[in-house]
Amino acid sequence: MTAGNLRPTWAEIDLGAVAHNLATLRGLVGPGVAIFVCLKGDAFGCGAPAVGRQAERSGADGLAFGNVDSALACRRAGIALPLLVYPSVLPQAAPVLEAHDLMPTLSTLEEVAVWSGQVRRRMRVFLKVDAGGFRAGALPHHAAAVARAIADDPRLELAGVYGHPMASYGFLDEPYTRSQIAGFQVALSAIGEAGVRAPLRMVSSSAILLEHPEADLNAVDPGRLVVGIRFPAVAQRQREWRPALVGLKSRLVMVKPLDAVGGVQPAPFLALRPGMRLGLIPFGWGDGYPHQIPPKAQALVRGRRVALLGPPHSELLRVDLTDVPDARVGDEVVLLGRSGGDAIGLSELAAQWGVEEFDVYGAIRSLPKRYGNADTNEWGDGE
Ligand SMILES: *Cc1c(COP(=O)(O)O)cnc(C)c1O
Repeated sequence: MTAGNLRPTWAEIDLGAVAHNLATLRGLVGPGVAIFVCLKGDAFGCGAPAVGRQAERSGADGLAFGNVDSALACRRAGIALPLLVYPSVLPQAAPVLEAHDLMPTLSTLEEVAVWSGQVRRRMRVFLKVDAGGFRAGALPHHAAAVARAIADDPRLELAGVYGHPMASYGFLDEPYTRSQIAGFQVALSAIGEAGVRAPLRMVSSSAILLEHPEADLNAVDPGRLVVGIRFPAVAQRQREWRPALVGLKSRLVMVKPLDAVGGVQPAPFLALRPGMRLGLIPFGWGDGYPHQIPPKAQALVRGRRVALLGPPHSELLRVDLTDVPDARVGDEVVLLGRSGGDAIGLSELAAQWGVEEFDVYGAIRSLPKRYGNADTNEWGDGE
């Protein structure tokens, strides 16, 4: 065991799934459309450098980030792809972005002036359009003026224009989503009429890509689909998406008998059983586990189902080992994944927790990761 994996709790990320999902996306959009993989939230908890490297190997054309540190980590990990940073960084960071060839997002004439003043030689930038999300971005009737200002600035170069419509996910307000895509098109036309060339034109996150093939334009920027987070309510282009998150595992760090508790007062939260054995794993709500133990929370130990006993602690969970008398310190406790002949899948774990699969990805963000390939069953230690 190396220092990097002394902590016996980890998530397993299947890079084979990332490769599969990207090949599936490529099949949907065809060879002529650039795929900028969105790696927000440290690649949705899966680790941006590892997922980014796999995306590069699998033919992605660029990566996009909501966090500049994540973008820098990918550049430092040797990724050579174009890297786009969503609006999340101050102009003072321009020299660092310039040195690492990271492309910021600009929305206003004021930003164009301020960023230009910080750039030493030349910087490629993206213009964002806001067609109704009311976040960053130039409103469609302002977009052409901002694009023109970028094009006229000797230190800036327009790499592309993108928008991020708030998507309907198949059940919210579909006309609203459509109006945002249309607003983006209005902005693109105005930019073209102003005589500015926008090399990349991108408006499709995962849900838009699935539901609106007409919005592929010449680039798309899906995130969640790449790590296999599914959108079951969205029908148009459904394919088989494989979850990259395939394991959430820990090891017993303590096992003790509770059959005779001596003079200790029984705790109100713990129903003692005859012959009870208690195990502990170093994983709790501070690491992403739910704050309440769900009623049917289970894990696998030596291929058998065991109950998790509440309340969860910040960095510890109790396991009822009464029915696994051979369990020992160091044994794997599988919250997600296979153990012996049984397995807990992502949909089962999400149902146990009463959350969406997406939220389980959020829960693994702070954990060590093991990367591997479920097709070849090869797993490494960390990155
Ligand atoms: C989050 C985000 C995406 C990706 O969204 P998914 O739903 O994860 O595909 C794309 N573009 C922008 C600007 C985003 O902020």
